Formats: sequence, C-alpha cells, structure tokens
Amino acid sequence: MRQVLAGREFAARRKILGFAIHLLHSAATKGLFSFSGIFGRGVFFMIDNEKIKAAYRLILEAIGEDPNREGLKDTPDRIARMYQEIFSGVNETAETVLSKTFKIENSSMVVEKDISFYSMCEHHLLPFFGKVHIAYIPNGKVVGLSKLARAVEVYAKRPQLQERLTDQIAEAIYTSLASSGVLVIIEAEHLCMNMRGIKKTGSKTKTVAYKGILKDDLSMRSEAYSLIAIS
Ligand SMILES: [Zn+2]
Repeated sequence: MRQVLAGREFAARRKILGFAIHLLHSAATKGLFSFSGIFGRGVFFMIDNEKIKAAYRLILEAIGEDPNREGLKDTPDRIARMYQEIFSGVNETAETVLSKTFKIENSSMVVEKDISFYSMCEHHLLPFFGKVHIAYIPNGKVVGLSKLARAVEVYAKRPQLQERLTDQIAEAIYTSLASSGVLVIIEAEHLCMNMRGIKKTGSKTKTVAYKGILKDDLSMRSEAYSLIAIS
C-alpha cells in the first residue's frame, strides 16, 4: 500500500514538474523570456521537438506522401528525437571540453589521427562524414586524447561546412591550450554530392587548417604532415 502511494505521489510530482518545464519552455519559445539570457547560451537551450515534428509532417505532405500511413506516422517524432543528438553541438563550445589540461615538460608534437566524425552539411542538411587528423605543438599543457575527439563532436554536431569545421577545431585547440601550433586535416565524403547530381560516389573532400608555428614554419608543417601520414 505504502509503495503504491509512493509510486502515485512520484507520478504526480513528475507530472507537475513536467508541466512546469512545459510552461517555461513555451513561454521561452514565444519570446516572453529567454533561458539563454538568464543562464547563458548552451546551458538551457532546448531543441523544440514539436516544431520539428510539425515541419516534417509538412515536408512529407509536400512531397506527396501521406504522413499518417503506418510506416511514416512516427517518422517526424523519430527525426525530432534524432535531431536532439545530431544537433546537440549547436549551443556548445569546445572550451569546456578542452579546459582540463595536464602539464608537460617537453613540447614535442602530439598527433591524433583517424578521429571519425559525422556532421550535417548546412546547405542540404545531408550527412558528411569521415576522419579528422590533428597535430599540435603543446606549450606546457596537453589534453587527454579523448577530449580531442569530444571537441571534434562539439563542432560536428550542428549544421556545418567542412571548411569551417576544420578551422573551428584548429582554433579551439590553438586558443584553449595556448599551443604553439596546430594542424587539422579533414577527409570527408558528402552525401549531398554522392547521392544526387553528378553522383561521384566515394569522392572525398580534403580540408586543412593551420595555426601558429605550423602556419608559418614550412619545415615544421611538413614534419606534421609526415607524422600524420605514417603514425
Ligand atoms: Zn551539401
């Protein structure tokens, strides 16, 4: 009996809390106030599932489909929940990810290659994906290698351009670690190229960004390139 009551009480509390969150969220989406204005962007931003669901129902109608048929009726909801994940980087920055550093004595180059990523091209909202290779020269501090992969995720999980993604990763490592130089190479396949138009299946786009010494010193840069190639 006690347990049943506790269960009901819990359900009631959860309902009230859910309703309060819903009220705050709808007030925020109507522009009555902004979470981000109070707490700073990123902390309280919520992706609007209802808007995504409504939009995808319209898209299905617009292409001549029946959004209520068996296979499609839950699709807008599935997409909304998927977008929570694949666009989770929109209001994040890599500064927090890269803030936990370790002191080191020497400053030999650190290379991390073949970090896989998935992103969405901002021109077509179709995936582009591939590998990120990073080389940097520390200036007294380094981050754990998993943090580099996390930093890549932050910038990949948003509507993105490969060129900007490359530069944002390089810039984040350069400034957050105050490193002496950074080289970032991205090789990626774009579905907006491969599944439409000229259909160059398997073609890859390569972008490069360099900062600091690795921008100015050509011999250091070629050392970074060869380390990425052979490591
Ligand atoms: Zn595209």
